Amino acid sequence: MSEHGAGAASADDRLVLLARRLPKAELHMHLTGSLSPAEFIRFTTLDEGRDPSHADVARAYDNRGPEKFFTDLDRAARLWSDPARLAEAATRVIDSAFDHGARHLELLCTPSLSRQQAGIPILTSLKAVEAAFESARGRLGLTGGVVVELHRPDGAEGALEVVEAAIVLRDRGLGILGVGNDGNHRLAPLEPLAPAYRRAKEAGLRLTGHAMSPDDVLFALDIGFDRIDHGWAIANHPQIVSRIVDAGTTLTFTPMAYTLGGHRSSISWEQAHRILSEAGVPLVIGTDDPALHHTDLTHSYELMMRRLGWNSAQLSDAARLSFQKRWALDGDEAAVAAHLAEIDRLEVDPRGSDIAGG
Ligand SMILES: [Zn+2]
Repeated sequence: MSEHGAGAASADDRLVLLARRLPKAELHMHLTGSLSPAEFIRFTTLDEGRDPSHADVARAYDNRGPEKFFTDLDRAARLWSDPARLAEAATRVIDSAFDHGARHLELLCTPSLSRQQAGIPILTSLKAVEAAFESARGRLGLTGGVVVELHRPDGAEGALEVVEAAIVLRDRGLGILGVGNDGNHRLAPLEPLAPAYRRAKEAGLRLTGHAMSPDDVLFALDIGFDRIDHGWAIANHPQIVSRIVDAGTTLTFTPMAYTLGGHRSSISWEQAHRILSEAGVPLVIGTDDPALHHTDLTHSYELMMRRLGWNSAQLSDAARLSFQKRWALDGDEAAVAAHLAEIDRLEVDPRGSDIAGG
């Protein structure tokens, strides 16, 4: 047992503490990529009447490559086999994000996967997840909501159906923040999703989406995405970088996914981050698929700090930016102001002794 609060922390200790304690907004986290190993064991045991072996669990999280990765996402959607389970799972995922520092969460949900893998209708699964989020708003004071993901492999018609569902729920007053896209980008181009994105934009929904290649990023800019997920591989295309800066588009940046080798590029992610930051592109740190990428939001901030040599001001600014670039629902300003004030206090004293009154 060590004496609480004794002694002055080293500069490095203070930075680690700051990274861990800063309130953050998480703008890029997928529900299906957040199935924890404990939850995988729990649901597998329920379904199969036996505990999965250690080898089963290790294989489920072994990050064996892109194709395996997408089947891992399918597995989560399959284990969440009815709306009640899905809502319960979403509650655990949201609570875990909160426990790892997220005070505002934009949860990416792909309802097509729940229909494909578990037979849950699009509207039903979105309502189940949103109900879990609404409960977290009340219990935790969490802000944010659901970003509805179009599933690239389903093509134009599937995407339009999902956008219509998102509009219906938004019009009923549910916390639907906008529309994104995911699914295996190696197998399915973005272009067929253009009519669905245009429909979402006309209906007043905000737009984001995974853009991996220069062509994807150009597509996103042409449609007028408010935000782009990843997109950093264009850092060595100065003309595209200029277009992003001119458009004022934010990029979400998920370092642990890049460390694990899930994204191919001619430059390193650290180098890309430096180029884009210097050019004036806002980059917001996220986890992407925290369970499958063996990370959480606090760890991802620490990783940025270590790999880019950030000081306390850079760490604190990254947390501030995450809130500034959030997609707000009405009424979250007071909560966010409190988080920004907390960031100011922690930047000065990451041990927070003035908050504790000591
Ligand atoms: Zn993602």
